[in-house]
Amino acid sequence: MQDGQLSIANLLRHGSRIHGGAEVVTWTGAEARRSTFAEVGQEAARLAHALRGLGVTSDQRVGTFMWNNNEHLVAYLAVPAMGAVLHTLNIRLFPEQLTYVANHAEDHVVLVDGTLVPLLAKVLPTFETVRHVVVVNGDPSSLQAPEGVTVHSYAELLDGQPDEFEWPVVDENAAAAMCYTSGTTGDPKGVVYTHRSIWLHSMQVCMTDSMALSQADRALVIVPQFHAMSWGLPYAALMVGASLIMPDRFLQPEPLAAMIAAEKPTMAGAVPTIWQGLLALLDQKPQDLAPLGRAVVGGSACPPSLMAAFDKLGVTIIHAWGMTETSPLGSVSRPPAGLSPEDAWEYRILQGRFPASVRARLVDDDGNELPWDNEAVGELECAGPWVAAAYYRVEPGQEGSEKFSPDGWLRTGDVGAITPDGFLRLTDRSKDIIKSGGEWISSVDLENAVMSHPAVAEAAVIGVPDEKWSERPLVAVVLRSGEKTTPAELQSFLSDKVAKWQLPENWTFIDEVPKTSVGKFDKKRLRAAAADGSLDIAHLT
Ligand code: AMP
Repeated sequence: MQDGQLSIANLLRHGSRIHGGAEVVTWTGAEARRSTFAEVGQEAARLAHALRGLGVTSDQRVGTFMWNNNEHLVAYLAVPAMGAVLHTLNIRLFPEQLTYVANHAEDHVVLVDGTLVPLLAKVLPTFETVRHVVVVNGDPSSLQAPEGVTVHSYAELLDGQPDEFEWPVVDENAAAAMCYTSGTTGDPKGVVYTHRSIWLHSMQVCMTDSMALSQADRALVIVPQFHAMSWGLPYAALMVGASLIMPDRFLQPEPLAAMIAAEKPTMAGAVPTIWQGLLALLDQKPQDLAPLGRAVVGGSACPPSLMAAFDKLGVTIIHAWGMTETSPLGSVSRPPAGLSPEDAWEYRILQGRFPASVRARLVDDDGNELPWDNEAVGELECAGPWVAAAYYRVEPGQEGSEKFSPDGWLRTGDVGAITPDGFLRLTDRSKDIIKSGGEWISSVDLENAVMSHPAVAEAAVIGVPDEKWSERPLVAVVLRSGEKTTPAELQSFLSDKVAKWQLPENWTFIDEVPKTSVGKFDKKRLRAAAADGSLDIAHLT
């Protein structure tokens, strides 16, 4: 067989030619602006010429500080295709973390959306290696350039550049893109994706028992391009010709509902919080969601109550698990064929089945492998061609290297069981698990049980110190608007859902669960609030 390189340049050529008519729709508030994959291909060539002009000649890092939009897609393609490395900066990181990641990755150029200029302006003077900032859809004069940095207008920089670029042949194992994990301990860690890993991962995204992305789809890409590469949807779209609907900065329930009505996506990808918000809105203002047939939900455990609610609206939630370190597709929950709806449901709520390319194993605290019997609980470890082998510039022995086993597997930090037929059932993050009297309580199971109460919009569970049991669960509850309940009522609601010794006695009502930069429950902040006494906690006996 021939030795064709799997490269982003080939993906770009393919997508912009064979699927030249597929659309990229960017929401602008009341309406949308549109381009086609053919136009994206030409714009990518112009951007590549412009970046060459700014001194991007080899594998320099080009940062993006952008929402999901047409230009971000252009950068996704142009930067790796020209042999440089795309670094998607997470706009929601704390300023010190942004400084850290831009300096650690040694970004040379940063592309920034006009609306994000004020945010970037605060940290730009601390970016040591950045020489050029390119303002996309905005006024470059709004950005005060620190010494040694030149600010450009994207439109002017691309104006007059050729529509074609001689994309270099790049080794498929060369770096194409990088993303830093928003880990809650230590400095963020860089994960570097290769051309090959992105290509193979894109094929997986399109597989039928995965996200099944196809040319018939219009994919609403809510998961940010700065978080785990939008779950691979942009690259996979180029591979099969699925149109992309990009929400830009309009991620609140109202504009998302408007986008769904106007642009008729057939599939979407987002973390559970987004769907909770949309559901709350639909409660107030019902809307037909057709033809949105499926929504891939991951990033944190999808509450079964959410899945059931969307079933009623005609949208099948497909639960998936993954990490920045796994590109991110790890597992997708497609029930085995031939099951009754009730039996299929038991599979749907799991984190999903591992595909052929992702190997998995469970290990106990002593590193022994555990059986796949859906009972034994241990830490999940993964390996495969789109699973990170190391963090960027973290040498053996340095902080972060312990996430990789001596035989090269990724230690995910996720704890759970695996069924005999390869479905993952996560019970917790290892650091979130509650250790009560020597037994483990799954915070996720408790959250799901509390969230199945009709008055509850969201619930987050953390462990709080307890003299007798060492730790006990504290449930922080957000009520649906207009609803009322009490800790005692919620506790009795749980009594037939969890073991008696797990019934939480500590309850607090809050307005909102604090969220991380990527929309997950921020249990670190919740723990801090519980510790410093700023929560009003009811203790049942
Ligand atoms: P990130 O790298 O930010 O995407 O975070 C990855 C982590 O999110 C995983 O290690 C899990 O702890 C969590 N996660 C992702 N998907 C799920 C899921 N379906 N259920 C539970 N946790 C999940």
